[in-house]
Amino acid sequence: MSKDAHCLPAGQRLPVIHPWEGDVLDCCHRFFSGPTPPPPAWPEAASEIADVVVVGAGLSGLAAAYQLRDLRVVVLEAGTQPGGVCLAGAYAGVPYPAGSAYCYYPWDEAWAAWYRELGLDVETAAVAPPASALWYRGAWYPDCYSEAGVRRLPLPPAAREGLLQLAADLAAWEDAWDPLGSRRLSRPELDRLTLADYLEKHRGLPPAATALFAPYCASCLGARPHQVSAWAALSFLISEFSVTARIIAFPEGNARLVQALTQALPHPPRLGQVVVGLKPGRDGVRILAADAAGREFTCLQAGAVILAAGKFAVRHLLGPGSGWEPQDFSHFRYSSYVVAALLGPLQVAAPGYENWVAEEEAFSDFILAPRKAPAGSSRAMVVYAPQPFPEGRQALLNRTPEAQAGAILAAAERLFPGVSRQVAEVRLYRFGHAQVVPYPGFLTALKLQGRPEPQRGRLILANADLEGLPCVEAAIVQGQKAARRAREVLKKSE
Ligand SMILES: Cc1cc2nc3c(=O)[nH]c(=O)nc-3n(C[C@H](O)[C@H](O)[C@H](O)COP(=O)(O)OP(=O)(O)OC[C@H]3O[C@@H](n4cnc5c(N)ncnc54)[C@H](O)[C@@H]3O)c2cc1C
Repeated sequence: MSKDAHCLPAGQRLPVIHPWEGDVLDCCHRFFSGPTPPPPAWPEAASEIADVVVVGAGLSGLAAAYQLRDLRVVVLEAGTQPGGVCLAGAYAGVPYPAGSAYCYYPWDEAWAAWYRELGLDVETAAVAPPASALWYRGAWYPDCYSEAGVRRLPLPPAAREGLLQLAADLAAWEDAWDPLGSRRLSRPELDRLTLADYLEKHRGLPPAATALFAPYCASCLGARPHQVSAWAALSFLISEFSVTARIIAFPEGNARLVQALTQALPHPPRLGQVVVGLKPGRDGVRILAADAAGREFTCLQAGAVILAAGKFAVRHLLGPGSGWEPQDFSHFRYSSYVVAALLGPLQVAAPGYENWVAEEEAFSDFILAPRKAPAGSSRAMVVYAPQPFPEGRQALLNRTPEAQAGAILAAAERLFPGVSRQVAEVRLYRFGHAQVVPYPGFLTALKLQGRPEPQRGRLILANADLEGLPCVEAAIVQGQKAARRAREVLKKSE
């Protein structure tokens, strides 16, 4: 731990800055980047037979394993805990999300039944309005993604009218928009444009209006409005501007879903197991996993394998005989992310559950845990700091926790003067390949051109990136689809 924070005025009590948490880089980089070690020798025979092996215990892998819980399923996870980007944090008894935070209130009976089965009480987790607020030109604008919120924004009348028209159109499109998991694009032409081009060239909005969506795009889609597909951004914004959609957020965020899924499995995911090789054959697939130190190897045999890791990792596992080539996945791009928990007796107030910050480089949004608290009680300000796409990942490897915390504390201080004096500790979580970036044309390739096919023989792809949209529902839908495919594969080979 270090007590060094560069941004703070001399004489000020310095917070404790913890070392990086989040991705466990060493074990994966040992096998998949840089000068690679000689490939480990495959044992003659597998030491264990399973019906299905799931690679990755993020939400997609866990959702798949949950659907297959009546079978012999082994979940192998490279990290030290399940959940992928859905991590939980706690400070002085206060839970907070250390990664993915909220999801949507079940929108139909199938989703509602899924939450019920898992014992998740969505009603108590429903977020009180306003769900969102925007910090813009020195003031808060609650409910910024609503007609009333847009009316309050200090914009020229033409820009405000343009945004109101956009909000009305989004509401009108809501019912006809393609659901997750669909292989259609309701308005494919929108995937050829960036959000910025769509707003400015097609709707005549000024760049100042586009800039209001910059923190949203960076946080939710991993890149800026001039880099992301208009279709992808509008899909997310339909939910934001919806008058019927509600969000739910457990105190520790989507880590609650991970916990519920994990507890419902007959066997917990095996942690610290990096899958480093796959050998598909006529009778099944052999899977080679290494421990975190890269010294001990385990070989399993399965009737089907669900690859629920991101394609940046999966492409290293698919060689000759898999049916795919590494270049089949080269069109997937990923953004990087830092989540910072500023911890202490914070006396800060913000109107929304999720608070967006325009015109700030160091972070895009934050939530407070708990949202309101008596003076002097322990709290977490969870700051989301998406890293500029595409260069962010390399920088994250080299940046010190002190430098990262210093930049975030300085920005928090601009927003809430005096807050850095109240911060006792900073915990930092980094995610190198945090989420897939839906750049223009990507969804067309995935959905309309079917690149890559989600299954080849006994190998089945999952992960939110296969939906092209980074959100928990995409991960769950893709996990469930992969589970259905695995059953079909097993049935055929009976
Ligand atoms: C900071 C952040 C905040 C977010 N907030 C929200 C939010 O509030 N709401 C929302 O809807 N969405 C949010 N998202 C997006 C959403 O949480 C993700 O899209 C979703 O959780 C991804 O789940 P997944 O299973 O597809 O992938 P992942 O979570 O990436 O899981 C993949 C797993 O595979 C493992 N793995 C990789 N390689 C190997 C290997 N070789 N062997 C074994 N295991 C391996 C990884 O360690 C990881 O655990 C957020 C994303 C981030 C990064």
